[in-house]
Amino acid sequence: MDLHAERIECAMPDGPPVSGMRLGPVEVFLGAQSGKFPDGNQVIVRGSDAMAVFDTPMVANRIATRLADADLVILGHVHEDHAAGLHLLPHVPLHVPRADVDAIRSLDGLRRHYGYSPGVVDAMVERARTDFHFVPRPDALAYDDGATWELGGLRVRAIHMPGHTAGHSVLLIEPLGIAFIGDIDLSSFGPYYGDACSDLGAFRRTLTRMLDLPARAWITSHHKGIVMERAGFSAQLERFAAVIERRDEALLAALREQPATLEELAARRFVYPPSFNDLFVPDVERRVALQHLEALIGSGRVERRGAHYAAMA
Ligand SMILES: [Zn+2]
Repeated sequence: MDLHAERIECAMPDGPPVSGMRLGPVEVFLGAQSGKFPDGNQVIVRGSDAMAVFDTPMVANRIATRLADADLVILGHVHEDHAAGLHLLPHVPLHVPRADVDAIRSLDGLRRHYGYSPGVVDAMVERARTDFHFVPRPDALAYDDGATWELGGLRVRAIHMPGHTAGHSVLLIEPLGIAFIGDIDLSSFGPYYGDACSDLGAFRRTLTRMLDLPARAWITSHHKGIVMERAGFSAQLERFAAVIERRDEALLAALREQPATLEELAARRFVYPPSFNDLFVPDVERRVALQHLEALIGSGRVERRGAHYAAMA
């Protein structure tokens, strides 16, 4: 089947329509500012027997009528911005990667998923509840790598691609070869691995596997929306992955100036620009810097001296 993207719109009674793209039986509605966080892109897949919804970002709340007939919801991973429309579908079966499922089943699970320091994590969970309509789903069903869902003429296959979160999975629509790649979002920000459930090493391995996906169209949760050309996807993936190496280099450059503690390094900001401030930033900077340090120690480029880290010659 040839894949041609066509523009679609969902009319709004009180403002401009929500625009999107249709790729055969797959609709992608773009969140505000091309699905930039805190919004995201909503994917709807219609088979002859069932309709599946991938994630439910903020924009889901604007196109609720389009989601009303959903037979199942599949989350590619758990973060508040991907669960912001779940409250619209409280009785629809919900499938979540096994390693992330506790984070959707309870607020305590979400706390452990973030893993920030106590005051920060409480505020972030409260923000998930108030700003992202987060409602725990104790009935969520766990899925594993290789899980499939038959929609009638279409099959969805889960491919575990961890790192962003422990459970982060690509949802591949077969036989069309359309891959929903979630928060491997090809943004200029680069890969995010700042939560307790994140893993830099796993993210690196995931990125090396992305080109092996048997796909010919890639849908991101944020920013890019739909990428239709393999060459373009490959180039964007390379730029995205290169951010990790830039963070390595920036950290090494700081340590070449002088040995530093984790706190000193985190304060120098290797993830967020100094102009961006939010309550989770110090925790994320610390978590990211520590993972880079551990990897750099592993490859012999950094050594630990008590509380300090030092660059090797
Ligand atoms: Zn995420």
